[in-house]
Amino acid sequence: MSQSGGHNGRITEAIPHITRNEALIFERSSAGKTGAEVAPLDVPPVEAPEVLGKDFYREDIDGFPEVSELEVIRHFTRLSTWNYGIDTGLYPLGSCTMKYNPRINEVVARLDGLATDHPYIPARLAQGCLGILAETARCVAEITGMDAVSLQPAAGAQGELTGLLMIRAYHEDRGERRKYILIPDSAHGTNPASVTTSGYEARSLKSNDRGCVDLAELERAMTPETAGLMLTNPNTLGIFEEQIREVCLRVHHRGGLVYMDGANMNALIGIARPGDFGVDVMHLNLHKTFSTPHGGGGPGSGPVAVKRKLEPYLPTPTIEETGDGFYKLNFDRPKSVGRVRAFYGNFGMAVRALAYMLAYGADGLRQVTEDAVLNANYLRARLSTAYDLAYDAPSMHECVFSDRRQAARGVRTGDIAKRLMDYGFHPYTVSFPLVVPGAMMIEPTESASKAELDAFVDALLAIAQEVKEHPEVVAGAPHSTRLSRLDEATAARKPILRWKPS
Ligand SMILES: *Cc1c(COP(=O)(O)O)cnc(C)c1O
Repeated sequence: MSQSGGHNGRITEAIPHITRNEALIFERSSAGKTGAEVAPLDVPPVEAPEVLGKDFYREDIDGFPEVSELEVIRHFTRLSTWNYGIDTGLYPLGSCTMKYNPRINEVVARLDGLATDHPYIPARLAQGCLGILAETARCVAEITGMDAVSLQPAAGAQGELTGLLMIRAYHEDRGERRKYILIPDSAHGTNPASVTTSGYEARSLKSNDRGCVDLAELERAMTPETAGLMLTNPNTLGIFEEQIREVCLRVHHRGGLVYMDGANMNALIGIARPGDFGVDVMHLNLHKTFSTPHGGGGPGSGPVAVKRKLEPYLPTPTIEETGDGFYKLNFDRPKSVGRVRAFYGNFGMAVRALAYMLAYGADGLRQVTEDAVLNANYLRARLSTAYDLAYDAPSMHECVFSDRRQAARGVRTGDIAKRLMDYGFHPYTVSFPLVVPGAMMIEPTESASKAELDAFVDALLAIAQEVKEHPEVVAGAPHSTRLSRLDEATAARKPILRWKPS
């Protein structure tokens, strides 16, 4: 498909099994059809309301689709082929770390005792599962250089909220009521949202001309009312904060704490540990760096890791060793911020992440990091001939361009991203981070081979050429998909997510 990216809209014809008409035939139901055969009733019939009781019987459900087994199979199989996923091709969505989900993780997560143990079984009967959680937490602590870990948070954003609540509990414990959390202007959108939800007020910190924290700005902003700094490192520009030690020192000097958004640890593992450069609390996304399924593929997991001084505030319960090789759940934690999620967090994700870490081992994980950084820098070097680099600093796990050159010809980052779909690639992250006008944020991860990276670069270079010669082709893309330009706001705000009888 990537070879057929012509200018004449012939792509649709080149793929015979796709017709626009097919997209419209969604409704397959017709009265009387069925995919199942049920034995004749041999008991007296009763009406549903009698069995269920009035309160549970919903009059408003007036029918289910009536379809044959084959129609159901075709329907779902067809829908599955309309998706683009990491199992289909390169998925360079920056800040999302869409890496391969190794199948060994899935095999391990489906093992009997791990997949079927009920979360309510007593701790003494769940020793294997608790051991896995404890081991996962130990690995996370080792990788981050932190002292203690909770695996409860179910997503990165929930890890953020948990960490901020701990910062709050820490200050309040010391009799201090601080009001503000500083956030660099390049921050991920979840950061200010988590700050606000935790009851703090977010104050934006202007980056310097290298896209990093400006020490003089930080100095000015760190008042006695400032509870701490929340930053992403490498930041959302894919740049490592070179003065991170100094940044942490200055925040600590004013009694503040440093929160690091570690959703993107793909450039640090095995090389640098946040705990060593001064971070007090952070979260990790197991569903990014640690290869557990992401997005529609599975629930998330955002463990939060802390230094010793914040340990008393970790969510309850904590999993602790009893000294004789067993584990117990400790609920007796008076300073804890409480429970943030049911049971133990998304247990299956901890299993997958641990399988990933053990399969690679320490050397393998370092290699992952080196390959991810190498891939990002390769893209950065090859693409900078055609696209403007946002900041000229070495890239970590991702690189960020601006559409400045293309915008001069009326083509914006969103158009280029849509044109990439015609070339068979998932788009990069569009218009983020906000500090870069027309941002194109690209994260290849270590999963991409050189051949795949080259094909991606060739596509983006070809698009840059199209922008010069036929800008209208790029501005009108995609031309090869079933639907072209959707009303994205309505699709997001008023999605139709379930079937209703027509
Ligand atoms: C993905 C991401 C988050 C949010 O993680 P979720 O699991 O989607 O809540 C936060 N910060 C950064 C930098 C991220 O890339």
